[in-house]
Amino acid sequence: ALHNNLIELRGNIRVHCRIRPLLPFDDAVGHSVSQDRRRNFSEKAAYAADDETVLVKCSRPGHASVNKTFQFERYNVCIMAYGQTGSGKTYTMLGPQLEGNLSFSLEEESELGIIPRATQEVFRLISEKPPGSYWVEVSVVEVYNNEIFDLLAKDGYGKVFGIKRDVVTTREGKSDVPLLTHETVENASEFLHLVNKGLQLRVTHPTLVHAHSSRSHLVVTLTITTVVFGDNFGTSWEDEQSSQRLNKEASCTFPQKMRDNKSTSSSRASSPVQLEATEKMKQVKTRLQLVDLAGSECVGMSGVTGAALRETSFINRSLSALADVLGAIAEQRAHVPYRNSKLTHLLQDSVGGDAKLLVMLCISPGQKYLTETMQSLGFGTRAR
Ligand code: ADP
Ligand code: MG
Repeated sequence: ALHNNLIELRGNIRVHCRIRPLLPFDDAVGHSVSQDRRRNFSEKAAYAADDETVLVKCSRPGHASVNKTFQFERYNVCIMAYGQTGSGKTYTMLGPQLEGNLSFSLEEESELGIIPRATQEVFRLISEKPPGSYWVEVSVVEVYNNEIFDLLAKDGYGKVFGIKRDVVTTREGKSDVPLLTHETVENASEFLHLVNKGLQLRVTHPTLVHAHSSRSHLVVTLTITTVVFGDNFGTSWEDEQSSQRLNKEASCTFPQKMRDNKSTSSSRASSPVQLEATEKMKQVKTRLQLVDLAGSECVGMSGVTGAALRETSFINRSLSALADVLGAIAEQRAHVPYRNSKLTHLLQDSVGGDAKLLVMLCISPGQKYLTETMQSLGFGTRAR
C-alpha cells in the first residue's frame, strides 16, 4: 500500500513534448514557436523525465530515448503520440521508416521509433529472467470511425469487433480484456514482422484503404504473461525462491503449451489461465500499449460532407473522449468515462489505476501551426 501511495503521489501520467525540426514543406521562412512560449508551456505542460517508471524520455529536444527501467512486472504502461497531422507522431512511434517497413537497423539509432525500441527493451528484460518464465503476445488494431479493426485477424481482414471482453487474472485481481487476435512472439524480430504485416494490411485492404493513417488510431498491444505461485502473489518478483520455483515448475509446462498454440492463437484459444492453472499457480498479465493517434487538428466542419465529415466527427469525438478520460484521472474523479469511445475502451487497462501513461505531444515548429500547437499543449496540460 505504501508503495502504491508513493506512486500515486508522483503521478501516473507524464507528458513530454517533442518538437520536430523545421522541414521544407513548412515554408521555412516562417518563425518557429518562440522560445518564451516554449518555456512557459514546458513548465506547465511537461514533466521532467522520471527514470524509474517511464519507458521513454526525451533526453534532448527532438530525441526520444528508451529508459532501461521499464518495470513490466508491475504496471500496465501506455505510450501515446498526440498531435496534428505532420507533427511527427508516426515518426516518434514507428521511426523514420516507411510504414509497414519497420526494422531495427537504422543508421541513426537515436531515431529508432518507440515501438521497435520498447519491444527490444521488453525482450532484453525478459532475457534476464529465468528461461521460459515470461511470454509475450501481440495484438495490432486500428480504430477508425469508432470501429475496431483487428489487423492480425485471420478470418477475414478488417473484420469489425465490438469489444467483447474476456476475464483474466492480473496482479490486482480479475480484469477483462478485449477479445482480439493475440499472436505469441518469442523475440523482437518476430514482433516487428507481425506489426509490419498489420501495417501493410492497413494500406491494402479495401475496407481500410480510405482510412489514411492520419485519420485512424493505431494501437499495438504487448501482453506479457508470467506465472506466480499463490503464496508468493504480491511479493517481490525478484524473490530468489519464487523465481527458482518458477523456473523449475513453470518452464516445463507453459512454454510448450504456448508454442503449440502459437500459430492458431486467439486470446480465447490460448488464454493460458484456462490451460493449466492450478490452485497455487496464477498467471499474471501486464500490458504495454503503444498508440499512434489520429491527427488532432481541428478540421472545420463547414463544407465537409460525406465520408470526410464522418471521419472528422469520429476523430473529434474519440480524442475528446480521451481528453475526458485523462481529465477524470488527473482530477481523481471516481468515475472515469472509458466507455464513451472504442479508443478509450481499448486503452482502459493501461490508462488509469496503477497504470503508467506517457503522452508524447508532437509539435510542428512553424508559426503557422500556432493554433494547433496551443491546442496540443492544452491537451497535455489537461492530462496531468
Ligand atoms: P504525423 O504522423 O504526426 O502525421 P509524421 O510522423 O508522418 O507526422 O511526420 C511528418 C513528416 O515530418 C515526415 O516526413 C517525417 O519524416 C518528418 N519528421 C517528423 N518528425 C521528425 C523528426 N524528429 N526529425 C526529422 N523528420 C521528422
Ligand atoms: Mg502519422
